[in-house]
Amino acid sequence: MKTEIIKIDFEKPLGEQLCSSAEIIRNGGLVAFPTETVYGLGGSALDADAAKKIYSAKGRPSDNPLIIHISEPKNAEKYCFTNDAYYKIANAFMPGPITVILPKKDIIPYSVTGGLDTVAVRCPENIVARTLIEKAGVPIAAPSANTSGRPSPTTARHVIEDMDSKIDAIIDGGGSSIGLESTIVMPKDDSVIVLRPGGITVEMLKKIFGKVELDAGITKKNESDKAPLAPGMKYRHYAPHAEVFLLLDSGKGEFDEKAVGFLSEKLAADPSAGVICFDEYMDKIKGENVFYFGKKDDDVEHARRLFDILRGFDKTNAKVIYATASDTKGVGLAIFNRMLKASGFNTIEI
Ligand code: AMP
Ligand code: MG
Repeated sequence: MKTEIIKIDFEKPLGEQLCSSAEIIRNGGLVAFPTETVYGLGGSALDADAAKKIYSAKGRPSDNPLIIHISEPKNAEKYCFTNDAYYKIANAFMPGPITVILPKKDIIPYSVTGGLDTVAVRCPENIVARTLIEKAGVPIAAPSANTSGRPSPTTARHVIEDMDSKIDAIIDGGGSSIGLESTIVMPKDDSVIVLRPGGITVEMLKKIFGKVELDAGITKKNESDKAPLAPGMKYRHYAPHAEVFLLLDSGKGEFDEKAVGFLSEKLAADPSAGVICFDEYMDKIKGENVFYFGKKDDDVEHARRLFDILRGFDKTNAKVIYATASDTKGVGLAIFNRMLKASGFNTIEI
């Protein structure tokens, strides 16, 4: 299949540029499109066959459900049974990087929800995404537009790497402003459980709900036989080909000095070792496969760069990667969660 690349010109009206993509979606085809979180691989959420094509293009297990994207929060009424928690979230954070799990209505096929009676709903903020959904006239089911298991794409170039010749079109609307997938929440009693941390932080949710529960799988390996609440959280994810080790702060002090010592030793033994570290280490930690992902306290920048860096390692000869972790406050929790997954929970406390 020939994949058409559509480069958006933000000086020109968006509607016209998205006409052919909207038509592809309406007719059961697949189009990758930019959102503020990561690029999505979109098909009509009302079309069971389109969902099957999405699973096949990604190589994704079909028990891992898709998120449906709507252009206005109130449109959720057509596809699922909403509740107070949904509207509290919608009023505070939509359009934006948050997904809510709700009981589905019959119009959403089970192939979209991986056989579940619930559906994940999100209203993205990105103007290209919203215009595309509006023009398509159907909700768009879209997981991240990467091959299953690889880091999510935050640029059209990443999508081309994984999806060229597998889908009808890729819309290039520039880099994703957040760079990590949406926060996923499931309403419970008068509050929500966070199933996946993202750009809408736990601290932000606490301002609306008071108390907020975190799914244990966010920071711990699921060792039990119990299925996680978000089926996708059980899969190895975000992983480059090389083995990843995450350096964690033991809390005993002098983390940066110890991290610089540890990384210097590893690089002396193996100059091709991969490293992800803070900009502050730049003078001391150098090497062919060393990447800096922002100043230590700049979690917004870490989020934006992480997946590009993880993908970059697959083009190097690094056989092992050492990474310094973000702290777990604010967006830091989402970055920490993705880094834990990329490392397959291989951690080293120093
Ligand atoms: P992605 O589309 O790649 O961002 O992944 C979607 C995530 O949403 C996966 O972790 C799914 O397991 C999760 N998800 C989608 N639908 C549901 C649902 N109905 N219940 C729980 N988790 C869901
Ligand atoms: Mg994904």
